[in-house]
Amino acid sequence: MVYRQFSQFLSRSLVRCLLCGDSCPHRSGLCSGCRAELPLLHSACERCALPLPEADRTCPRCLQQPPSFAGARAAWHYAFPVGQLIQRFKYRGDLAAGHSLAQLAANRLAPRTKPDLLVPIPLHWRKFLFGRGFNQAHQIAEEFGRRWGIPVHPRLLRKVTAGETQQQLKRARRLHNLSRSFAIRGDVDGLHIGLVDDVITTGATLEAASRVLLQAGAEKVSACALARVP
Ligand SMILES: [Zn+2]
Ligand SMILES: [Zn+2]
Repeated sequence: MVYRQFSQFLSRSLVRCLLCGDSCPHRSGLCSGCRAELPLLHSACERCALPLPEADRTCPRCLQQPPSFAGARAAWHYAFPVGQLIQRFKYRGDLAAGHSLAQLAANRLAPRTKPDLLVPIPLHWRKFLFGRGFNQAHQIAEEFGRRWGIPVHPRLLRKVTAGETQQQLKRARRLHNLSRSFAIRGDVDGLHIGLVDDVITTGATLEAASRVLLQAGAEKVSACALARVP
């Protein structure tokens, strides 16, 4: 009891902004100055979230070859200081940084059409056991699910091959590899699945996961992420 009061006192009195270290009463953990610095993604392709000029709604690649998912959204550009916060979260286990971004992103990305289920993009189990020890996409999905009132199924998608470093492969090869790398555990028949990831890099991972879900009978797949790589 005393300990709880003490930790509550500490958490109230020592809250510091995650970026600048100033005292910060805002529950997101970022002061208003630092929140204003986050590079909001205002204008993006409605299919794959690629940053675009104001007038365009769909990027050339999606016009030519539309993805299997209905749409993707991201809260920010993958740029300073969002990129640094995401790296702290992913590689240094800074859960406060991840929680802070997920909270703020939940406000920006609240879906107009709610998915039936949120599903995080999985880490391969070997990475999970011997690497980071947690799946950042799962943490983000939990926050979105709580805020939007949507159930989260963290184990619906399973990654079955560790694969080569995806960034080093050509897009076609990467898609081919990726589409064999997800398996589904559970029934998705007729459901709208909302995929959740920390960063959308090329959209290839989402495309692969989406194809597997649609093949298994999902009616619609959409996606959201904290940030989008240009
Ligand atoms: Zn600050
Ligand atoms: Zn696009």
